[in-house]
Amino acid sequence: ERLIDADPASDELALDRAIRPRKLDDYVGQAVVREQMEIFIGAARGRGEALDHVLIFGPPGLGKTTLAHIIAHEMQVNLRQTSGPVLEKPGDLAAILTNLDAGDVLFVDEIHRLSPVVEEVLYPAMEDYQLDIMIGDGPAARSIKLDLPFFTLVGATTRAGLLTSPLRDRFGIVQRLEFYNVEDLAWIVRRSARILAIETEAEGAAEIARRSRGTPRIANRLLRRVRDFAQVRADGRITAEVADHALGMLKVDALGFDHMDRRLLDAVINKFDGGPVGVESLAAAIGEERGTIEDVLEPFLIQQGYLMRTPRGRVATQAAYLHLGLKPPRSVAE
Ligand code: ADP
Repeated sequence: ERLIDADPASDELALDRAIRPRKLDDYVGQAVVREQMEIFIGAARGRGEALDHVLIFGPPGLGKTTLAHIIAHEMQVNLRQTSGPVLEKPGDLAAILTNLDAGDVLFVDEIHRLSPVVEEVLYPAMEDYQLDIMIGDGPAARSIKLDLPFFTLVGATTRAGLLTSPLRDRFGIVQRLEFYNVEDLAWIVRRSARILAIETEAEGAAEIARRSRGTPRIANRLLRRVRDFAQVRADGRITAEVADHALGMLKVDALGFDHMDRRLLDAVINKFDGGPVGVESLAAAIGEERGTIEDVLEPFLIQQGYLMRTPRGRVATQAAYLHLGLKPPRSVAE
């Protein structure tokens, strides 16, 4: 299993609950999102209305689920959680919708994976708070309409482009989460360390933050792995030195890249002459799924300037050559 995987491991769920911020004020970073949500939530509450539907997109581990919970908390309503692949039949969604109370948040993770027939049910529910559903089949089939309470759909997806446009158009609020900077991540590490009673020096937290791929979930995971190391190999205290040793041992390099990132950059450079290479060929070369490359691996590499996405495919930058200890050819972009 990948240490810097941004998806939660099964044993992390209880821990997630302990360290997940509950209030907008505790949601670190994402200043633009936070400010906007504060206004939209304040306004909806002032009018005594349900909040408009919210679409949150961004790579895994950046805080989509957390933000959905915060929205419900700040609106003082309940949150019901489900996900695109779980809702197999229109009836699955209908059962959830008809159980909502007025104002509730329905959080649909991986909303891009809803099946088209389920999505059809969602349109009138989002737009007119109506359930329009067929019951029975054959000649006995009939359609029934039910009124639903006003509710807020919060949908999460890794990329906005994965949604059909009729679905995307029905969200009044669209928020894009960005990778976190090192300061914000260090803050998150220190906050988690406090909650988990892990003694951490500021420089130790900063070292973990620098190597967390801009992702809070990874920062929290590295914190716990470094704690193990500190406990067994040092006096339990996370200093910069302890963090550096531990992360080195865990094969997370100085930039927070692991073997998969390095393999991807290595393939672009050594198998495809630096690119451009199409994502399908790249996927075949490194034995990864296209979706993993697009959702998990390349967003951070692109954001950090190691990879470029061009109309003809992915291209390695100078920084990628240098990071792998290679001499960049003259033609390579900075
Ligand atoms: P996603 O749903 O985007 O995959 P999550 O909301 O599950 O990500 O966040 C992963 C973990 O990172 C959570 O357990 C939470 O503790 C932490 N986290 C996410 N965003 C923030 C934030 N803005 N401030 C502090 N911690 C955060």
